[in-house]
Amino acid sequence: MSKILISASILSADFANLGEQIRSAEAGGVDWIHIDVMDGSFVPNITMGPFIIETCRRITQLPLDVHLMIDHPDRHLEDFARAGASNLTVHIENTPHIYKTLETIKYLGCHASIALNPGTPASHIESIIPLLDMVLVMTVNPGYSGQEYIPGMVAKVRQVYALLKSHHSNARIEVDGGISEETLPEVFEAGANTIVSATAIFKHPGGIAAGVQALRRKVD
Ligand code: ZN
Repeated sequence: MSKILISASILSADFANLGEQIRSAEAGGVDWIHIDVMDGSFVPNITMGPFIIETCRRITQLPLDVHLMIDHPDRHLEDFARAGASNLTVHIENTPHIYKTLETIKYLGCHASIALNPGTPASHIESIIPLLDMVLVMTVNPGYSGQEYIPGMVAKVRQVYALLKSHHSNARIEVDGGISEETLPEVFEAGANTIVSATAIFKHPGGIAAGVQALRRKVD
């Protein structure tokens, strides 16, 4: 078994051929399909909603890793769960009743995950660790695909890893933003075991499967 899970973000996929792109990613060996939901309010960009999750659910059996970059995520959790989300990630920065939100996600039958923007300290997860299946450390400012990764985030991955260990938590650590063959080894070394990749997979010059293999080769 591979040392990392690869969550392929369809943000860089060709939407004119979404079905074929997702099937190629699945055949190429990705573990999860990552869906970046943006609302034009919490982040500048607007992307996709439950309808696309439902579409992905019909295309693939792979877990759907849904990253909610939206204000008032509580209002929409049920819609995303019903559409077929496997993991629901909410941001800590705009979710005031985070404990309750995470409980709701679990009640809906999904894995619960929290995301930290680059400016949010690792320590903010401390009181919710028992509820977490995963912590997503943003390695870029959320909002757009294809950004340069922020190197200082490696230290935060290390801090999250230490916090989870000290609480005997098996929560996964996912990194999202600018992860490529070049940046993967250091985040892996710091404790990340789940990586989101969009451009490095869907825009790889050798094709989707070559992109996945190139990432795996860096850690396996
Ligand atoms: Zn994401």
